[in-house]
This record gives sequence, C-alpha cells and structure tokens, in this order.
Amino acid sequence: MIIVMKPGAAASSIEAVIRHIKNAGLQAHLSAGEEVTIIGVVGNKARLAHDNLAIFKDVDKIVPVSESYKLANKKFHPEPTIISAGTATIGPDNLTVIAGPCAVESEEQLLAIARAVKASGATILRGGAYKPRTSPYSFQGLEEEGLRFMQAASAQTGLAAICEVVSLEAISAAVKYVDMIQIGARNMQNFYLLKEAGKSGLPVLLKRGLSATIEEWLNAAEYIVAEGNPNVILCERGIRTFETATRNTLDISAVAVLKQKTHLPVIVDPSHSTGSYRYVPAMAKAAVACGADGLMIEVHNDPANALSDGPQSLTFEKFDLLCKELRPFCSVTGRSF
Ligand code: PEP
Ligand code: MN
Repeated sequence: MIIVMKPGAAASSIEAVIRHIKNAGLQAHLSAGEEVTIIGVVGNKARLAHDNLAIFKDVDKIVPVSESYKLANKKFHPEPTIISAGTATIGPDNLTVIAGPCAVESEEQLLAIARAVKASGATILRGGAYKPRTSPYSFQGLEEEGLRFMQAASAQTGLAAICEVVSLEAISAAVKYVDMIQIGARNMQNFYLLKEAGKSGLPVLLKRGLSATIEEWLNAAEYIVAEGNPNVILCERGIRTFETATRNTLDISAVAVLKQKTHLPVIVDPSHSTGSYRYVPAMAKAAVACGADGLMIEVHNDPANALSDGPQSLTFEKFDLLCKELRPFCSVTGRSF
C-alpha cells in the first residue's frame, strides 16, 4: 500500500508515519514529489492491519497496491526515474541511443564502430563479451578480453559502455570495465542473477524474456530494485508469436503499458525484435513516436562478415541516416537528441 501525504505535509508528520511503519517491521520508501510526498510500504502489511494510519497528522489517503511489484510500481514513485550511466543519461527529457556490435570481435573493430556511432549521436556503446547463443557451436564471446576492449573504446570516445552478463563471474568482471550491465532475454527470470545484478551497484538494462508477460517482466525488475538498486531500464526486444516473417514480434504496445505501470525508463531494441536491418529504421521511429526513452541498435562495420547477428546489423551509413531521421520524431515528442 501507499500513504499519500497532504500537500505541504510537515517533515515531522512524514517522519511519524515512517517510524510507525518501521516499528511494525516493514520497509518505508519515500517518494518526495513537487506537490505531494508518497510513502510506500513493503512487507507483510497484515502487520499494520489494526492500525489506522489514516488518522495520523497530514495523511491524505491510503491506497492499496494490488500488484506484486511495489518498488518498480508507478504508484510508489509517480515521477519518472532518471538514470545516469557513465557520461549518458536515460530518462524522459532525451532520447538515449545505445549502439554497437552484437558481439565484441576485436579491439580495432570495436573502436571503429564506437567512433562511427558516436559521430552519429549514440551516447552508449553496446557490445557483447558473453554471448548466450542458441547453439553451443556459435561464437560465445571474448569474455574478459572483450570487456577490456569495451573499456578502451569507451575511454577513447567518451561513450558509456554496456555489456551483457550471464553469470556471477561475468558480473564481477563487468563491474571493473563497464558503466552498465545487461540481463538478456534468456536470463530475465534467472532470479539469482537478477539479485546479483541488484547488488552490483551498476545500472541494469533488463531485456524482456522471449515469452514473458509484462507483469513477469516488472517482477523481474523488482528483484533488482529490491536489492537496493533503483537504476533499472526495461528493454522491449520482441516476443515469440506465431509470426515468422520477423525474428520476433515487436510488442510496441508494451511501451505504452509500461509507461502507465512503472517509473523506470523504457527502451526498445528494433534489431533483435525484427532480425532484419530492413525493418530497424521503421521500428525505431515507431518506438520514439510512442514514448520510448531510448533505443538499442546493432551496428557493424561489416555486417556480411559479422560473427553474430549480421543480418539485423546496420552499416555505419544506415545508422547515420536513421539518427538523422529520428530527430524530427524527438522534436514532436519533446525530447532532445
Ligand atoms: C543482445 O542484446 O546481444 C542479446 C543477446 O539480446 P536478447 O537478450 O534480447 O536476445
Ligand atoms: Mn545480437
């Protein structure tokens, strides 16, 4: 449940409510907005059942929160969350473009891509060092060496860096080299990994599972935030449907739904959701038009020879053109780019 305080509630009244919640063995989460302060209660609220918090001074109303995710819930935190990762910011005022290769292949390849995507307007460099591939015989990633190349490319360009993690060892390595970690679609419900990501101290980009509902996805985000890490970005990357014309089906409506349900930033990955470079520009524009806070796009110097996901990767020229075409979409949605 949440306790909504009256506009201009005294600090002593807010403290009294928090003390009461804590004395019942529950957690109190404060969200101080411009107008009103909201106090979210996490824990077994039956412990508060016999107390009438409504009679506390400056309490306006008590609202039950029926959803199982609380800290990720917009009711707990009505203002949109703004996340900083290295030199980049993700939130409602700008469009954050994350771009780079599916997999880090070599230091030279990564640096060339980093320079190109930065020149076009990206602020975060992506690159997989640990690749969760469908086949065990496909390229699995350069692991810690790939992370070192990410750090070097980030240092030389000023871009923030993000890398997917697939294990506790990968998290321990990633915190030494990159600004942000990614939990991929296949690990969205790896609850142990989610908790460890929550403890990492780095912002976490959480991709939607291949057949996860939005509610399951928000509960996965809750696992991370419940570890004391409020910096979670949700990434819609397409879901499994009966359709085979695209690699997955981009659930663009998820952006609109999430904007109602959570304060966490929402981004869209038009590369994995479509599987073809041909559809990436249209889906990227649709994402911005419907309110996404950012995009994650695969870009490669030589898609025909990429070690993974070449068919969906944009060349430097196509990525540059897309960034130019996105600018008017940012203007009409009130975002800077
Ligand atoms: C990726 O971003 O490299 C990736 C593997 O994506 P997903 O988890 O969405 O398949
Ligand atoms: Mn990929």
